Amino acid sequence: MQLIDGRPVFAATDLVAYLACEHLTQLERASLAGLVRRPMRDDPELDIIRKRGFQHEARYLADLEAEGRTTVEIELDGSLEDRGDQLRAAAAETIAAMAGGADVVYQATFFDGTWRGHADFLLRVDSPERRSIWGPYHYEVADTKLARHVKASAILQICSYIDQLERIQGVRPEWLHVALGGSARTVERLRVDDYMAYYRSARDRFLATMADQVAATYPPAGTYPEPVEHCDVCRWAAECVKRRRDDDHLSLVAGISARQRGALTERGVGTLEALGDLALPMDPRLDGTSAEALERIRDQARIQLEGRRTGSNRYELLLPEAGQPIDPERGLATLPPPSPGDLFLDLEGDPFAFDDGLDYLFGVMETDGTFHAFWSRDDSGEFSLDGERRAFEALMDFFDERLRADPDLHIYHYAPYEPTALKRLMGRYGTREEGVDNLLRQGTLVDLLRAVRQSLRASVESYSIKKMEVFYGFEREIDLRDAGSSIVAFEQWLELGEGERPAADHLEKIEAYNRDDVVSTWRLRDWLETLRVELARETGLAVPRPGVRGEAPERLSEELARTQALVERLADPSVIPVDPAERTPEQAGQWLLAQLLGWHRREDKATWWEFFRHMDLTSDQLIDESGPIGGLEPIGPIEEPIKGKQVWRYRFPDQEFDLGRPDKLYEPRRKAENPGDKPGAWACGELVAVDPAALTVDVKRIPGDPHPTAIVPLTIFQTGQHRERLRDLGLWVADHGIDGDGPGRAVRD
Ligand code: SF4
Repeated sequence: MQLIDGRPVFAATDLVAYLACEHLTQLERASLAGLVRRPMRDDPELDIIRKRGFQHEARYLADLEAEGRTTVEIELDGSLEDRGDQLRAAAAETIAAMAGGADVVYQATFFDGTWRGHADFLLRVDSPERRSIWGPYHYEVADTKLARHVKASAILQICSYIDQLERIQGVRPEWLHVALGGSARTVERLRVDDYMAYYRSARDRFLATMADQVAATYPPAGTYPEPVEHCDVCRWAAECVKRRRDDDHLSLVAGISARQRGALTERGVGTLEALGDLALPMDPRLDGTSAEALERIRDQARIQLEGRRTGSNRYELLLPEAGQPIDPERGLATLPPPSPGDLFLDLEGDPFAFDDGLDYLFGVMETDGTFHAFWSRDDSGEFSLDGERRAFEALMDFFDERLRADPDLHIYHYAPYEPTALKRLMGRYGTREEGVDNLLRQGTLVDLLRAVRQSLRASVESYSIKKMEVFYGFEREIDLRDAGSSIVAFEQWLELGEGERPAADHLEKIEAYNRDDVVSTWRLRDWLETLRVELARETGLAVPRPGVRGEAPERLSEELARTQALVERLADPSVIPVDPAERTPEQAGQWLLAQLLGWHRREDKATWWEFFRHMDLTSDQLIDESGPIGGLEPIGPIEEPIKGKQVWRYRFPDQEFDLGRPDKLYEPRRKAENPGDKPGAWACGELVAVDPAALTVDVKRIPGDPHPTAIVPLTIFQTGQHRERLRDLGLWVADHGIDGDGPGRAVRD
């Protein structure tokens, strides 16, 4: 927002920011009133996003022009000194371009004295039914966004433009368009009427806040800088972080949720210190938080407080209840026995590069100190998708070779990025599927973050590996803060052409960051091993190790090998370019068919992987997941038992969830109690109904069974016949080409 002609003028981004954080709106009000200067945010990563955004917009413009559409570009007239005059001139030019019937108006500007807006594109639609004031045509708004999915904020922003556009052209457009990022270059088309009512209500609330008779104050009196997603891009972030630290705000407690903060603050527990000193149980109990979850965050605050009061780094082991054995499925018990062939893995990825992102470095450390850096560079030495495919294949082949030499080795990493990236790369290039599957299924990949979270409590505000390093005395050779993040350094390299590149040691520095990460992972593993000894000493119990790894089923491997051979024939990179932009339509079709051959299997796998991940979480942890429901409490049966089953109603705390239409519901506690059973044994009932407003769910279950405390949905589709038909088609195309004369014409077209 800004003052123009002495009056506040708002933009769509102000409305979006208001919905993300009301404190931000109040800070902007204070700045408008001259009470505080708006800070500048110097963030190289945001600069990269901005630059990528401009490139995406330019590409969409080129696509429109390639279709032969006439384009009028609106530019702010820099010769006009007054901002209001600039906007009025650009808005008048936009109206003139529409009245003149241009196919596309680029950088369309709206200004009505209260709202200003800059839509990326207005697209002309010829339609006698929806006539504008200029004739049988009107305009629709298209905006470019780097995201791969349409976000609510993007729709709201476009609705704000439509509000102005409707006023000017005299008719509401039927559709709005969002040109998304990524190589798929998807343009989502959404019906305007589905969103305008919500937009109007949000806009009116925003305007009411801005018209508030209570004068702006600094710092704002009625709002608080609760951390939200928008903080990552907000110019006020440094100020808000300071405020929270000065206030000893609850958000400083590692792992506390916004919901828990809200409930505690309402009960007068508003600081880390107050929570750390809180006596339990609370009476009455804390709304929406189980006793275990409350104890967990209280203990986390307590140890942070102890660290602060004693000026030392503190940790404590999470011990089993008195008289109970050590859970073999959790924490330190999940660490496999160290083996000489163990490897430590860390990936560097850039989500912005090459449209769909690029994992540009795969670093692996061996226990003899040998470091391997697999860079995503192709034969010419440039970073490219082909280079990424080669690096991924080389990495997987390296793992394969090492596993043959030492079948007992494990690959350690910190946090779930590495397995997620390996799955993604397997899908992206349709290669090394069996290798990735075996790593995951046989438990070769070991996430040390999970082991840390489940085994100890430390006086840190976050359990990032860098924060944990003080406990095992690891000192980095390269401080990332010296040269910005690895992504920024990598983008600098990409941006500059041959000859202009930064000094030769630029990539070496990135490699050194990565090397630090894998060495740190190695040191952490060794420290956790010493904690196993400590745990055994403190409890007097043997700390279990995970069981022997399973073998890959033979029949599945054969089927996969046949499919894989066919995929490699169809998508042979010596014939079909790896970069989608370089493929002919026939090559694109053949490549797509190759990817489809493994699609059902990959989708099933993704479902199973996600299912098992959820089944390893506690009821409280599931509250923060977007699929399952955690924190269930029985209310009572809602009907008489029928054929040995009865529908029960459960209440649950407010949370995001999406159960879909599952075949069955499963309960993680059953898996924890019987981890060796088949998944069917963990089922706890069938979904009957869910009421998101009342926060209740109805489950048909066996009346004598223990009540579920959480439910995880699972649906697996029967796709055997689809897979066979696709394989038949793939074999035919491999022999005759995608465009050859013969059967399956409609599918191939
Ligand atoms: S940094 Fe976060 S809390 Fe502060 S104003 Fe911005 S969005 Fe709100």
